Amino acid sequence: MTIIAGPCSVESREQLGEVATALAGVPQVKLIRAGVWKPRTRPGAFEGLGEVALGWMQELSAELDVAFCCEVARPEHIELCRTYGIHTVWIGARTTTNPFMVEEICSALKDGGMDVMVKNPVCPDVRLWIGAIERIEASGARCTAAIHRGFYLYNNQGYRNAPMWEVALELRRHRPDIPILCDPSHMGGQRELVGQLAATAMQLDYDGLMVETHPHPERAWSDGQQQITPSELLSLIGKLPSSQSSTASSRLSTLQPLRGQIDTVDHELLRLLAHRMDISRRIAHIKQQEGIPVYQSGRWNEVVADRLGMAEDLGLEATFTKEILERIHAESIRVQMDRTDGRK
Ligand code: PEP
Ligand code: MN
Repeated sequence: MTIIAGPCSVESREQLGEVATALAGVPQVKLIRAGVWKPRTRPGAFEGLGEVALGWMQELSAELDVAFCCEVARPEHIELCRTYGIHTVWIGARTTTNPFMVEEICSALKDGGMDVMVKNPVCPDVRLWIGAIERIEASGARCTAAIHRGFYLYNNQGYRNAPMWEVALELRRHRPDIPILCDPSHMGGQRELVGQLAATAMQLDYDGLMVETHPHPERAWSDGQQQITPSELLSLIGKLPSSQSSTASSRLSTLQPLRGQIDTVDHELLRLLAHRMDISRRIAHIKQQEGIPVYQSGRWNEVVADRLGMAEDLGLEATFTKEILERIHAESIRVQMDRTDGRK
C-alpha cells in the first residue's frame, strides 16, 4: 500500500515543515505531495509559489529524510524539479486531457531519471489516460502510477469529480502493470467524503492513495474544504484493510468456492450468447431469402416486455436488464447485417 500525502499547495516554509515533519514518521507515507504550480480554473486565485517552494522541499528532504513530489505542467517545471532534486512528478488532470501538452512535457523527460505519475484526464476518456502513459514511456521516463481523481461531469452527483470507477478498472484491464492510486480528495471535494472514497478504492484493490493533508485545513490557500490533518490521515490509514494481514488472505480463501461458481456461470453465459448469435445468423439467412427487413420493431418491443417481466420476477434491476438486452440486440443486428459473416 502506497500512501502519498501532503498539502494541496506549498504556502510557506513553516507550513511545509510542519506537515512534512508529521508525515515523516508515518511508515505508509512513501512520498509527500506538495503543489508548487497550481492550475486554477479562473484567474486571480493562488497559483502556487513556484521555485522558492522547491528550495524548501530540497532542504526538508535532507533534514527529514523524506521524498517530495509535485505536479508539472510545462517542460521548464521538469528542469526546475531536476535542479532541486525532485525525482517524482505527476501530470495533472487538465494536462492529461491535452496530448500537445503531454508531448511538450515529454520533450523535457527525454534526459531520463524521472518517475512520472499520471492523473486521469478531466473527461472520462480512458484512451487519453492510456495515451499519456504511453507518451511518457516513449520518452524514456518511468510511469510509476496512474492516479484516479474522478471526472468532471455537468451533474457530479455530490462529488467534486464523479468517481466513475469503471474507467479506472478499464485502465487496469489495458495496463495491469501500472499501479493505480485513488485521490479521494479531488474526487470528493469535501473532507467528509475522503474516508468512504478511500474505503471504496481499497475494496476495488487499488494500490494506494494520494490524500491532501494540511496542518491547518481551515487556513489553506487552496482546496481547504477537502484537506485533512495529519492526525486525521493516521486514523484513515488505521481503518484501511491491510491486504498483507493473514486474516485478509484467509478471508480470500473462503471466497474461492463462490468464485469458482462465478467462473462457471460466466462460461455458461458466454456459451449461451454464442448460441444466441448463431440463431441470429440463421434468422438472417431466412430474412434475406424472404426479403424481410432485419429490424422488426414490433417483435423487439414484445421481446423487451417479456424479458423485463421475467427480470422483475427474478429480482433483477430493470435498467440493468434493459441495457444488457439492448446491447445483445445491437450485436444481433450487427451479425444479421454482416452479409459476409459466413454461416457455420
Ligand atoms: C492537485 O493534485 O493539486 C490537482 C490540482 O489535482 P488535479 O489535477 O487532479 O485537479
Ligand atoms: Mn488540490
